[in-house]
Amino acid sequence: MAKPKYIYNAETCAYEPFFLTGKQRLNKSIRFVGIAFGCSIIAALWFNFNFKNWDEIKKKKKNQALKAEWEILEDKIHNTDSQLSIIESNDDDSYRILLDMPRLDEAVRKGGTGGSEKFPLLSNERVTLIEKVYGQLSKLKNRLTVERQSIAEINKEVNVKEEMMVTRPAMQPIDNRNLTTLHTIFGLRLHPIHHEWKNHNGLDLVAPYGTPVYASGNGNVSVAKMMGTYGNVIFLNHGFGFETRYAHLSKFNVSEGQRVKRGELIGFVGSTGLSEAPHLHYEIRYKDKFVNPVTFLYTDTKQSEYNKLLQPN
Ligand SMILES: [Zn+2]
Repeated sequence: MAKPKYIYNAETCAYEPFFLTGKQRLNKSIRFVGIAFGCSIIAALWFNFNFKNWDEIKKKKKNQALKAEWEILEDKIHNTDSQLSIIESNDDDSYRILLDMPRLDEAVRKGGTGGSEKFPLLSNERVTLIEKVYGQLSKLKNRLTVERQSIAEINKEVNVKEEMMVTRPAMQPIDNRNLTTLHTIFGLRLHPIHHEWKNHNGLDLVAPYGTPVYASGNGNVSVAKMMGTYGNVIFLNHGFGFETRYAHLSKFNVSEGQRVKRGELIGFVGSTGLSEAPHLHYEIRYKDKFVNPVTFLYTDTKQSEYNKLLQPN
């Protein structure tokens, strides 16, 4: 049995037991249920407004994590883009200039536009984001492909230039210590034997009989024989349009078809053919035309001597 409640009676100045009637009890119960129901509705609405449901909370957290990952990914793409730009810039503004190669066309560098993928299962907003990243990655991929091809092209050119540097006539064929005189008359001169004006197509390096003669650049011995006014002569084919000729030799140290390197001993100074005294008649031909050998002696000659040699005789 429920404990009775007490109420203060002012007339009797005492607490007296108080009992609710059945109707009062019913009203109280209805009020309680009503208030409880109301509170539940308010609580449900508040909860729904603030949190909706747990799934959504989880999705929200997941989205935040994805957003953070997304920002990291975009940073990485941006960094890669910057690094690639530096490599492209070095390629165009340094390597290609040094090797005398044309810059790559901007249109070739940019390549395709990318971002053509379709994503039917994703919302428009996500498709836009993903397409953007795919587009950026696609452009990077195209630029990398172009740069890889460009570097391969540069490497090839380096090899060609390297080969050109070692084959190009760039050394005096007689050691300066053995040289008595250097006659630099190239072009029209009064011939010392014929006493008439004739073109002199080479350089005369006067040295004692038997002085070693060296190849001025890498090449193939195309001729090594007695040949008319040249006397004993060696022709070296250097490739890239260059040929050198070494005339009036006393003796050969190479034979036709042999491959020689710059500085290799190929023969000895003599006076065979149309010659008055031991000397080396040295010629350089470029694309089947005689050129002045003096301009190819730079590596063995001091700047002051070189300038003097270039003066008209
Ligand atoms: Zn000569």
